[in-house]
Amino acid sequence: MENSSDIRDVLERIHELQLQLIELNGRLRRGALLLNSQTAAIQKNDAAFQAATNEYNKLYAYAKQKELEVTHNDQNLAKRKEQLREAKTNKEYQALQLQISADEVARSVLDDEALEAIEKAENYHQNVESAEQELKKSQELFEKTKKKYTEDKPKIEKDIAAVNELLKLEEVKLPHDFKEIYDRLKRNFSGGESLAVVENQRFCGSCNHQIPINSLAIIMQKKPITCSSCARLLYIPKDFVFERG
Ligand SMILES: [Zn+2]
Repeated sequence: MENSSDIRDVLERIHELQLQLIELNGRLRRGALLLNSQTAAIQKNDAAFQAATNEYNKLYAYAKQKELEVTHNDQNLAKRKEQLREAKTNKEYQALQLQISADEVARSVLDDEALEAIEKAENYHQNVESAEQELKKSQELFEKTKKKYTEDKPKIEKDIAAVNELLKLEEVKLPHDFKEIYDRLKRNFSGGESLAVVENQRFCGSCNHQIPINSLAIIMQKKPITCSSCARLLYIPKDFVFERG
């Protein structure tokens, strides 16, 4: 099989397919990561919405309580005015009058407090509304992403399977001495690039390490050699010109 196709072409093709797999797997991973981060955003916004709702409910309950106090005070005032009309003695009359003026002062204070509390609750409600909008926005974004990911995922997985099939077809073309190293590197780089092209006549295309002339000579003899720095299996580009020294 070694003779049927040049080892250089096979390695280049394998490298191309590896890059395609990395790109496809990257798309799957990015999609999943995006969904995770958008789920986290929903949780955060939901917590903020709950907190705003709780705060509003507290402010609203306080305002309602103040309103009740106003009503209660009004009832007391009415009762004392009734008692005033029925007062038997001067002393009783004066005592009631004092009570009434104290209640009236209290009423005016309570009134202000109740109004202020209602206003505060009403103003705060816009926080609830904007928190709800943020939550809704993040939920919509998540649904949109999820829809797209659900559509894209099977297509990407199909492409990955197709590329893996093509890869297998190339891998069987590798001579034994290459295959041994290639299999080991494939495990070590687990799904990453395990090959590197020689660039600018002298440099590893992956880590830019300068490749010794001896190593280049080995490549020219169609024997396997790895980069001494990044350990990737090296191959030369089509237009490579071997220059000694
Ligand atoms: Zn390297």
